[in-house]
Amino acid sequence: DFGKVGFIGLGAMGKPMAQQLATKLPEQSRIYVFDVIEDAVHDFAAQFPGKVFPEGSAKDVAIKSDIVISMVPEGNHVREVYLNDQTGICTFDLEKRIFIDCSTIDIATSLEVKQRVTDLHPQASFYDAPVSGGTLGAQKGTISFFLGCEKDDPHFQFLSELLSLMGKKAIACGGPSFGLASKLCNNYLSGLIAIASSEALNIGIRAGLDPRILSSVFAAGTAQNNICDSWNPCPGVVAEAPSSKDYQGGFKVQLMKKDFSLAMDLAHSVGARLALGERGLETYEGASEDPRCRDLDSRVVFRYLGGIEN
Ligand code: NAD
Repeated sequence: DFGKVGFIGLGAMGKPMAQQLATKLPEQSRIYVFDVIEDAVHDFAAQFPGKVFPEGSAKDVAIKSDIVISMVPEGNHVREVYLNDQTGICTFDLEKRIFIDCSTIDIATSLEVKQRVTDLHPQASFYDAPVSGGTLGAQKGTISFFLGCEKDDPHFQFLSELLSLMGKKAIACGGPSFGLASKLCNNYLSGLIAIASSEALNIGIRAGLDPRILSSVFAAGTAQNNICDSWNPCPGVVAEAPSSKDYQGGFKVQLMKKDFSLAMDLAHSVGARLALGERGLETYEGASEDPRCRDLDSRVVFRYLGGIEN
């Protein structure tokens, strides 16, 4: 029994995640939901009458719930959800409630919110738990959660069981904010792999190679990687990849820019030397502003870098 569950933020990721919960939690369960877009709240609740209930603020959700999941875009939205002095969660005695923030945000904001939560009640807890696997993974329930806690955290087992209703895996990454640090390192790497793959494909195509044959060479060689295998940046290589559907769906290039920039901030704050970071960030900033690329899947860097699309 997971008790009463709250869900805040019903966007591209949050809605399918909440849908998984609403489908998989037992019949008598109660789920309280909120989003700043009122229609999103009412439309979602209407799909699960008697099980999902629309609320008017993050605070209202938290008051009614034992455990609250949030999935909003950026640090300022997480601040609004938790720290707004009228409608925010941190405006009442939180008691033993558990909060799980799945948004990919800066580490400082996450740690500040965690501090506020535990200041309000020593038995309340807050976890960073960003996700990987995209909107399709959220719809299928196959996303991974990177949890900011130790494996022997008293709540880890409970959290894994709850999160497994929405995804396939929850990894305990260490202490508070280590889920976020892991996610930022992951996206730094996958962002650079997408750029490097796009460049290598572009070289080959311009040299006369068929990108499908070249991608099968990478798959058989030392360049084998998940981006080329499942998210190939060149259209027509992987039929289900966003690139083959004019880069529709997938992970928006502006989100990659946000995560890449957060990863760079982390790198600077810990003194990690980067050979590729600045160029990577410039590339995602440029692609985010390019009308041919904006709002499309981040692998559209292939197009941004002048890749030839057939
Ligand atoms: P989105 O913009 O589609 O959805 C965010 C939702 O939060 C919106 O419905 C918005 O109205 C709501 N919201 C904003 N401020 C709010 C507030 N104060 N209170 C309540 N609701 C509020 O974004 P998304 O794609 O769902 O991404 C959410 C987070 O997940 C981001 O941090 C993103 O980086 C991360 N993420 C996204 C993907 C992806 O493929 N889209 C994959 C992994 C991680």
